[in-house]
Amino acid sequence: TTAPVITIDGPSGAGKGTVSRILAEKLGWHLLDSGAIYRVLALAALHHGFAADDEESLVALAGSLDVKFDVEQEQALTHIILEGEDVTMTIRTEQVGGMASKIAALPRVREALLRRQRAFKELPGLVADGRDMGTVVFQDAAAKVFLTASPEERAQRRYLQLLEKGFSAKIDELITEIKARDERDMNRAVAPLIPADDALYIDSTEMSIDAVVDKILEFACSKL
Ligand code: C5P
Repeated sequence: TTAPVITIDGPSGAGKGTVSRILAEKLGWHLLDSGAIYRVLALAALHHGFAADDEESLVALAGSLDVKFDVEQEQALTHIILEGEDVTMTIRTEQVGGMASKIAALPRVREALLRRQRAFKELPGLVADGRDMGTVVFQDAAAKVFLTASPEERAQRRYLQLLEKGFSAKIDELITEIKARDERDMNRAVAPLIPADDALYIDSTEMSIDAVVDKILEFACSKL
């Protein structure tokens, strides 16, 4: 298909998820939360008791993973179903996030998840949120954005998000875990977290969500 794609990449807590969801809703486009796919795989691996470096088992698991994204009327109500179990909430913990970033460093695991991610590119269009959406998965995307914020602001946002979802969290532990995850994501050999050459760079530290959304819409309109 020739569906247009907007990619939003950046570190954790930059606001990619919220911004991508609003954009997809405003445009009436599909939404790919690629991090959720890595998180679901991580959760399944934890359930199976696989080690984070057991590439063989993880690749096999990635190939056979039974995961469904149930998009109800609104993207905000999307339920993530793993082998019939609703894991929408359980994949959000920092434990699962940490495991996700470890297995995401394995080249063959990333490879095994490519087709699954590209299948989201359907008419009328796709907003794709992740780390390598613009650099690897949708290299030909019409509009690429790299969204970031200061580490303190990102940890704070992640903290509030976890509390909102009913998890307890300690801010200092969270800062340590997020830093470790971001470093792993930026320094891995395959598909590291870096802005695409043609990406619009946005530092959202002192911007409202609406301001970020407006800026991306304006940019996307100039590109599409
Ligand atoms: O975005 P989120 O925090 O849910 O992603 C969890 C982890 O999955 C990230 O820390 C990263 O290691 C991995 N990931 C990735 N490539 C993507 C999306 C997520 O490597 N496109």
